[in-house]
Amino acid sequence: MKNLMKAALVASVAVTALTSAALADGKKIGVSWASFQEERWKTDEAAIVAAIEAEGNEYVSSDAESSSAKQLTDIEALIAQGVDVLIINAWDKDAIGPAIEAAANEGIPVIGYDRLIEDARTFYLTFDNVGVGRIIAKSVLEVQPMGNYALIKGDPGDPNAGFLKQGMMEVIGDAVDSGKIKIVGEAFSDSWKPENAQKNMEQILTANDNNVDAVLSQNDGMAGGVVAALSGQGLVIPVGGQDGDLAAINRVARGIQTVSVWKNAANLGKAAGEIASALAEGTAMDAIDGAGTFDGGEKGIELNAILLDPTPLTKDNLSVAIDAGHISKEQACEGA
Ligand code: BGC
Repeated sequence: MKNLMKAALVASVAVTALTSAALADGKKIGVSWASFQEERWKTDEAAIVAAIEAEGNEYVSSDAESSSAKQLTDIEALIAQGVDVLIINAWDKDAIGPAIEAAANEGIPVIGYDRLIEDARTFYLTFDNVGVGRIIAKSVLEVQPMGNYALIKGDPGDPNAGFLKQGMMEVIGDAVDSGKIKIVGEAFSDSWKPENAQKNMEQILTANDNNVDAVLSQNDGMAGGVVAALSGQGLVIPVGGQDGDLAAINRVARGIQTVSVWKNAANLGKAAGEIASALAEGTAMDAIDGAGTFDGGEKGIELNAILLDPTPLTKDNLSVAIDAGHISKEQACEGA
């Protein structure tokens, strides 16, 4: 009996030692989310967690809830928890500076996730956001080559709002210059909120006696707000968006949204988890597999970067999202 108990004790000590050895080897990756409200970020997070855990590392996170002040204290707390790498989805491109400084002081590598942090010490991982803007505009232009356009932009603190507009103007710029297309309303929507987009759209409709022929919305959540404003006036016109939100794909199937540019967040999240794990092991940013450089920000600073390609989803190719398991056929086509 005594011996048995001793054996059990030895075994349990051995297990404890093993567990702490495994944990001691694992790295801690901290993710600071800007605002977790949009559907897509849940997909990003699940993929990041899976990739980090597959490497034997640990995921810790916080949500700044659309506050640049909270994001700074969140990041300080993550640093205090001993993270080895930070993945930062920045709420505000200018306010994030001190957090990058604090990470650099501790020698913690930072991945600027989805949104540009224009600091050469960060690794920029995102989709080609200018390309997303181009696709939204091109898909809408194909069905509405002239007339009055409204531009519903995201949050002004997010560089993606600027990149999206850049891509949109590359596509419709000539038609605007020749007068074929008139931009009759353009507005930022604070915090990317659908209700702010809806209010913006309502104001643009009122100001133009409902004479609006097409809307370029910078994401799907806001496209939902735009469609609500339009249907309040009994209007169905071309509307573009992005993110591959399930409700947006359904709107595309029902013909009340023209395009949703799908940035498969599962791919971006997986890449982030893998890159973070490599950085945690000491891999240099310019030695990350597939890394190139990016210098397209306002300051023109060159960063190590990976930009993934987005996929347009229109009525003609919704099967792409269905076949990839992003949405079921029933959900995509409900009511269509
Ligand atoms: C992302 C979009 C997202 C938006 C609001 C942007 O930075 O690129 O995919 O819809 O933020 O969260």
